[in-house]
Amino acid sequence: MQSTDHYDILVIGGGMTGTAMALGLADQGWQVALVEAQPLAALMARPKSAGTVDDFEPRVSALSAASQALLQQLGVWTLVQQDRHCNYQGMVVWDAEGTGRVRFDATDLQVPELGTIVENRLLVRALFSRAQDSGLRIIDAATVTRWQETDRTRGVHLADGRKLSATLVIAADGAQSRVRQWVGLPTREWDYGQQAIVCTVRTAHHHEHTAWQSFARTGPLAFLPLQASADDRGRFCSIVWSQDTREAQRLQQLDDAAFVAELAAAIDHQMGAVEAVSKRFGFPLRQRHAKRYIRPGLALVGDAAHSIHPLAGQGANLGYSDVRVLLDELGRARKQRLAPDDPLLLQRYQRRRKADNLTMMLAMEGFKHLFARDELPVRWLRNTGLRWFDRAGILKHRIAAEAMGVHRG
Ligand SMILES: Cc1cc2nc3c(=O)[nH]c(=O)nc-3n(C[C@H](O)[C@H](O)[C@H](O)COP(=O)(O)OP(=O)(O)OC[C@H]3O[C@@H](n4cnc5c(N)ncnc54)[C@H](O)[C@@H]3O)c2cc1C
Repeated sequence: MQSTDHYDILVIGGGMTGTAMALGLADQGWQVALVEAQPLAALMARPKSAGTVDDFEPRVSALSAASQALLQQLGVWTLVQQDRHCNYQGMVVWDAEGTGRVRFDATDLQVPELGTIVENRLLVRALFSRAQDSGLRIIDAATVTRWQETDRTRGVHLADGRKLSATLVIAADGAQSRVRQWVGLPTREWDYGQQAIVCTVRTAHHHEHTAWQSFARTGPLAFLPLQASADDRGRFCSIVWSQDTREAQRLQQLDDAAFVAELAAAIDHQMGAVEAVSKRFGFPLRQRHAKRYIRPGLALVGDAAHSIHPLAGQGANLGYSDVRVLLDELGRARKQRLAPDDPLLLQRYQRRRKADNLTMMLAMEGFKHLFARDELPVRWLRNTGLRWFDRAGILKHRIAAEAMGVHRG
């Protein structure tokens, strides 16, 4: 019979949230294991040098200054910089069917940049390469297939028959979290009736280190700047085009020439013609929020606790805020020699994160509805509101600083 390996804390899921969580806990001195379904060799694969649209990973994240600071603290940020990332100093948001337009600038907020775009795969690669030099036990190519618990410990079974147990399990196994389902933590969820088309493009003009976002009634379109090698530097963008499902299906069926023509028009030709496009991927959009993030001996973090519309690029940032708060609570527990599953600690984590995440989710929902409406008064409000907001000086800067997690110098 297989014996069971026991840890203080078991983190399930080595995506960008779980790996950061496990690394931070190992640095605090806990005995931690991280279980990830994918093999380490694939997660650590060197990126291609970025010369064509097909060399980039299609999924990227717009990381806020607060997320960057966490990665810096974990000793990961320099590794991301050794691969590639693209800082952006401007963000322009406008109403595709009106005249309202808002521009945010790093100089107005007195910060070096508003955020940075990183390919998800490169971020995970940096996290794992740092994790290999830490005290963290990485159990890769290992799928958790079953949950088992006693009064005192929580355990999981892996597909290869191994068993692991821990005093605290942190589930970071993504939006479809099996762990959340096994332990019966309920969620509130709704379908947006939209799909996000994600791909990489090369444009005729420079992206000006700006994130461009246009809101149409059928959904938002974002052009996020990427850093390329050599000649085409500044002319690659990652696209997230969220559209009502039927419209997304129509766009997916277009050939490349027709697709890029519609894409360039939808972004108001801000960067001229779209000259090349990679393979397109489609993600159905569903908002999901766990009603509780904790139960005895278990906490949810990242997409396992909440998945949100990508329109503000906040999914990974919310996950990193969960990590920051749970690390803070567990760091304090370690100093006070408390057990990692201390109930008050877990309750404080839930209290500190749930309201924040819910506020962001409701804001995204409100935004989506505001732009989905076509009645004249709503259009008037949108246009006047955006123009007024653009001129609102201190208020605009304050809201922008809060939303982008930047701290003014
Ligand atoms: C189209 C789109 C665009 C987005 N753009 C942005 C953006 O610009 N900015 C931003 O901040 N966010 C963005 N997001 C959201 C962001 O991608 C997610 O919030 C983030 O990837 C969540 O990370 P995670 O680590 O919590 O989960 P995941 O990335 O889903 O990782 C979960 C991990 O758990 C592992 N796993 C799952 N089940 C098991 C199991 N049974 N056993 C072992 N391992 C398991 C998986 O292999 C995976 O590695 C976007 C999302 C979408 C859909």
